[in-house]
Amino acid sequence: METAIKTKIWLSSPHMGDMEQVYVKEAFDTNWVAPLGPNVNQFEMAIKEYIQNDVYVAALSSGTGAIHLALELLGVSRDDEVLCQSFTFSASANPILYLGAKPVFVDSERDTWNISPQLLEKAIINRMALGKKPKAIVAVHLYGMPYKIVEIRKISEKYNIPIVEDSAEALGSTYSGIKCSSFGDIGILSFNGNKIITTSGGGALVSRKEEIKNKAVFLATQARDDAPHYEHSHVGYNYRMSNVLAGIGRGQMEVLDERVTARRANFEFYRTNLAELKEIEFLMEPTGYFCNRWLTCILTPSFEAREKIRLALLQEDIESRPLWKPMHLQPVFNKYPSFTDGTSEDLFDRGLCLPSGSNLRKEDLERIVALILKTVL
Ligand SMILES: *Cc1c(COP(=O)(O)O)cnc(C)c1O
Repeated sequence: METAIKTKIWLSSPHMGDMEQVYVKEAFDTNWVAPLGPNVNQFEMAIKEYIQNDVYVAALSSGTGAIHLALELLGVSRDDEVLCQSFTFSASANPILYLGAKPVFVDSERDTWNISPQLLEKAIINRMALGKKPKAIVAVHLYGMPYKIVEIRKISEKYNIPIVEDSAEALGSTYSGIKCSSFGDIGILSFNGNKIITTSGGGALVSRKEEIKNKAVFLATQARDDAPHYEHSHVGYNYRMSNVLAGIGRGQMEVLDERVTARRANFEFYRTNLAELKEIEFLMEPTGYFCNRWLTCILTPSFEAREKIRLALLQEDIESRPLWKPMHLQPVFNKYPSFTDGTSEDLFDRGLCLPSGSNLRKEDLERIVALILKTVL
């Protein structure tokens, strides 16, 4: 009998195409190794063309930096309050603290696992009654599933509070055929190592206003005023993307749609092949929603059932991960106000992200499914 060599299966690993090295080499050949240069411009153009909807794009060193700049550009400063989806990665909330502002966490709803319109409005009314109108809303398309775009926008307009649209996990996702990152007052993208495409590290700020893009670039390049010497009237940051990494990004943009297709195929494979396990649930797309399926997530009946599957996979060198631990439960954030109804706590308890890379092989997926079936049945 043939013994298969069982290699480690990662949750989500980088997946390069054919052109990344060509563009990186171009940077070397032309000595555009120093920050900025043609790859940055081309990468921004490629994102702009992909997102459509008349957006302007600033390529930055990380998604976290993009959120930091977005909040600052929306006027968030010391002692302000910022509403933030609790069910997310910590990078959605950390920049609120960089600015000396305070997060107010809002729980998720069941249809998309993202910020609940009801709890968001409740939080706004509560904070306003206390005499503090929140300065911004950080809404997240978690695991690539768009949040309730229309409902959240309505609340944002009713109370005149702008939205930072955290699309770090949602490049390629759409709502009503429109690409994520173009719905918020400012959108942000991430090209970190395990995202749907990567520049090894990087991010972008997206806005429909050219002025916002220009201000973001200004702040991201040490806030140099227009003068022959170095003149500064603002505190600046070093947040711009390097021209070498933008070369990787150019190549990745050319294969983005293929990556989305591959990740969606992973989701369909899991859903079809685990269908006999009635106790395992998947998050389906509501009408009008298109999810890039960055990570395929399952909901098990209990914490114990979740752990049983996770540990069985780990035993076989297969990486899986519990869903994000809500921010209102995190030691660093639990002293801040939160408006919750148990939804994200329940998802965190019972949910598991399965290996979802666009470079998974059919035999990897078959191995994972077989192991889950064996563990649960
Ligand atoms: C990855 C991620 C970020 C941060 O992006 P980086 O590029 O890693 O700084 C922000 N928000 C969410 C939801 C993320 O998943």
